[in-house]
Amino acid sequence: MTIMTQGNSEGMRRCDGTCHNARKPKCTCICGGRYHGAGKQAQERLTRDWLGDDWREKKAEVEAAGGSFTAVINDALARLTRPQRPRPAQASLEFDVPARRSS
Ligand SMILES: [Zn+2]
Repeated sequence: MTIMTQGNSEGMRRCDGTCHNARKPKCTCICGGRYHGAGKQAQERLTRDWLGDDWREKKAEVEAAGGSFTAVINDALARLTRPQRPRPAQASLEFDVPARRSS
């Protein structure tokens, strides 16, 4: 699963299963090693990095109020300033967020 993509002049790069399931220690993708070899925990770790450890509570609160958690994610990404974290152009939290509606 691709957990984030990042665009630059050379095109789109991504952090996906190739990185998460890697057996070798060297990471060459956009996460800089943060999610390297993390397997199924990569997505959870990414979510915590962006939204904090209590993100599930926040999600429940937002949805209880009739809001969109996807909007919260986008807002969190927009405010992300910690330079040691990868700063993705696009979030992917597919495992726990309703699928995007095309309409
Ligand atoms: Zn990666």
